[in-house]
Amino acid sequence: MTDPLPTGATIGILGGGQLGRMLSVAASRLGLKCHIFEPSENPPAGDVAHAVTTASYEDAEALREFAAHVDVITYEFENIPTAALDLLESLKPIRPNRRALATSQDRLTEKDFLGSLGLTPAPYADITDLASLEAALSDFGRPAILKTRRFGYDGKGQVRINADTDAADALAQMQAAPAVLEGFVDFTAEISIIGARSAGGQVVCYDPGMNVHKDGILHTTTVPAPIPASLKTDAVLLAGRILTSLDYIGVMGVELFVTKDGLIVNEIAPRVHNSGHWTQNGCTICQFEQHIRAVAGWPLGDGSRHSDVRMENLIGADMDRVPELAATGAALHLYGKAEVKAGRKMGHVNHLI
Ligand code: AMP
Repeated sequence: MTDPLPTGATIGILGGGQLGRMLSVAASRLGLKCHIFEPSENPPAGDVAHAVTTASYEDAEALREFAAHVDVITYEFENIPTAALDLLESLKPIRPNRRALATSQDRLTEKDFLGSLGLTPAPYADITDLASLEAALSDFGRPAILKTRRFGYDGKGQVRINADTDAADALAQMQAAPAVLEGFVDFTAEISIIGARSAGGQVVCYDPGMNVHKDGILHTTTVPAPIPASLKTDAVLLAGRILTSLDYIGVMGVELFVTKDGLIVNEIAPRVHNSGHWTQNGCTICQFEQHIRAVAGWPLGDGSRHSDVRMENLIGADMDRVPELAATGAALHLYGKAEVKAGRKMGHVNHLI
């Protein structure tokens, strides 16, 4: 491990959405600067970061110039083109590392990896054609969920196969993209655990939160999650195992299904996570500062929860409620997005409960 970055150093962030914005705010509190690389104009992170490069991930010259101005590189979304990462990695350290990214980018690789650690993903099968889909359906039964291996988020790239769904139609909806079939998990709750690992190998996990989705998008996260203490311990231990085996540096979100037989790992996200936003008002050191500390080579902060919190996402027209919410004691976090669109994450509010 190299020395911790001194104050005044610059962290490069690939992606300029709300996660990049909140990372930049956290970095600034520690006297560190953030430089955003983002293809679209006027990204949310641009309002608060030290510098912004507006260029495509195919622009090698812009990537080189960006790398020259930063000390370490991190990212706020997973789907960064491989060629851009190859180039950047030859110039500056990328944290979390490439293996963590590659593992989480592909649902099949991710599930194979989780299985290799002795953890339990949903039953799954690689789907290459109609015959493999039909074979997996007869194994798992219906309902089942067909998912693209890559580029899925907020429930996109998924088809639920019910008793009366035509398998060929479902496969056609994958538009020839590689896919996996998942057996349907009969869960009692969805929780997630946000964990962090420092360059020195120290691991800190936050209390698991219970997640409720609406229209495929996270709606609320509530901490403490109403689950037995033994499952909370299981969640912390499995997050620690994932972080350590990937030699991970930074914050990771792990989504879990709670079932009568224990925890099933749904997916891992190699970045700060929407279900960890409650930490901004429930902990002394939030997930954004924790990530910045890790990638800067600093020791991690205390992740213990001092308050119970319900985080509520503000999606699209929920922005109309901002004047009313602003008049309550709740903590508002707005992303400064100019255009309100249906399904777009515009902000969130942390209610202390
Ligand atoms: P994902 O994009 O994989 O996180 O899936 C989005 C949501 O779909 C999850 O949060 C669950 O509510 C639901 N879901 C995904 N996979 C399964 C599964 N194998 N069994 C039951 N529900 C699932």
